[in-house]
Amino acid sequence: MITFNDSETAEELATRTRDLMEEVVLPVERELEGGMTVSEGTVSELREAAREYGVYAPQIPEEYGGLGHSFRDVLPAFEEAGRSLLGPLALRVSAPDEGNMHFLELQGTETQKEQYLRPLVAGDINSGFAMTEPLQGGGSDPKMLQTTAERDGDDWVIDGHKWWTTQGVEADVLLVFARTDQDAHPYEGSSVFIVPKDADGVEVVRNIPHLGSPVTGKGHAEIKFDGVRVPDEHLLGEEGEGFAHVQERLGPARLTHCMRFSGMADRALDVAKAYTSEREGFGSKIADKQAVRFDIAEHEMRLAAARSLVRTAAEEIAAGNQARVEVSMSKVFAANVVQDAIDTAVQLCGGNGMARDLPLADFYESVRQFRIVDGADEVHKRTIAREAFADVDESELDPITRFDA
Ligand SMILES: Cc1cc2nc3c(=O)[nH]c(=O)nc-3n(C[C@H](O)[C@H](O)[C@H](O)COP(=O)(O)OP(=O)(O)OC[C@H]3O[C@@H](n4cnc5c(N)ncnc54)[C@H](O)[C@@H]3O)c2cc1C
Repeated sequence: MITFNDSETAEELATRTRDLMEEVVLPVERELEGGMTVSEGTVSELREAAREYGVYAPQIPEEYGGLGHSFRDVLPAFEEAGRSLLGPLALRVSAPDEGNMHFLELQGTETQKEQYLRPLVAGDINSGFAMTEPLQGGGSDPKMLQTTAERDGDDWVIDGHKWWTTQGVEADVLLVFARTDQDAHPYEGSSVFIVPKDADGVEVVRNIPHLGSPVTGKGHAEIKFDGVRVPDEHLLGEEGEGFAHVQERLGPARLTHCMRFSGMADRALDVAKAYTSEREGFGSKIADKQAVRFDIAEHEMRLAAARSLVRTAAEEIAAGNQARVEVSMSKVFAANVVQDAIDTAVQLCGGNGMARDLPLADFYESVRQFRIVDGADEVHKRTIAREAFADVDESELDPITRFDA
């Protein structure tokens, strides 16, 4: 088994998380009838167990109810939690709350932290992150942002239309991305607001019917904002700095997606290895067929490479760097590696790969979003290519251009 350069603290936290997963979370997952959604009561019990195992909210500072570990040290625990769709819920490290808590921790005022971060960490409230908009608003190109927030006395008045806000229906509070200065470039004229979901003018239009497992019960909402009034104290971070703040949120959040989903792929391969080691066909175990062994070997290699890349990016983030290229590389590479591994696991389990008795069908449905959310593959490749072409060395062509005379 390959080992990574994780610290002793990180390994201990991951071991405790693995114990929680094996002893508490996976038995609950196995008891769920195929297609069922986990109940709120069960989520509360899982969180209580996570507290007992000393792994609840490991990424949050102790003063707000977490364990105060560094971004780099929580990485292997996030991977372990990802082995079941219920793991991130148990540890309070699931999207979008995990990213929103990080945002509040970085940019919130003390009052905002008391009012929103503390109850979010405790699991008493839920949140949504409302950035993406319907055609022709902000999506892959967030500069196309159309939602506006205008000052009116000591208030801001928000008008706009968002969709794909994960957990938008259940959320008590939304972080809403809006243009605050129409004359400025969006990079300098956008801001983020904390909007209570029950504010006048917030209308949840629907939960968008979508591809994805029902296990966690998280939907993705379409939401309209019609003259929604919030006081100035609900501005999150600096006015006009919304793009920079959102990048601070999205960089680490992209990596935590990689961590959780790589745990999912690892578990999927474990399920496939167990199935093919048991099942026989054509005179031997399926796991003894060279084609199957090479397939598994390929996915093990690619997953290890993805995990190494994610660690490199996480170290840069932990050192205070933006690490845009490292994050983009990790996101694209991990998303594709994980999707391919889960597809192979489904294939190797035959009909059972499609049934919801095993977790694979849920994994298969859940993983497809990963190549789209928080920036589609192509958007991240754009970032990688921009740097790749930044210092083209024309002297490389000397051997052929010398004949141009
Ligand atoms: C399950 C799920 C959960 C989500 N949760 C949230 C959330 O909580 N909050 C939120 O704000 N948003 C959320 N989103 C939205 C998500 O971030 C967007 O779907 C994503 O950023 C892509 O934007 P879009 O859907 O508008 O696609 P579009 O911008 O319409 O792009 C469509 C496709 O065009 C291609 N493309 C785009 N740009 C380029 C390019 N430069 N070159 C080549 N090809 C390109 C890509 O293949 C891309 O997938 C979620 C989406 C899903 C599916």
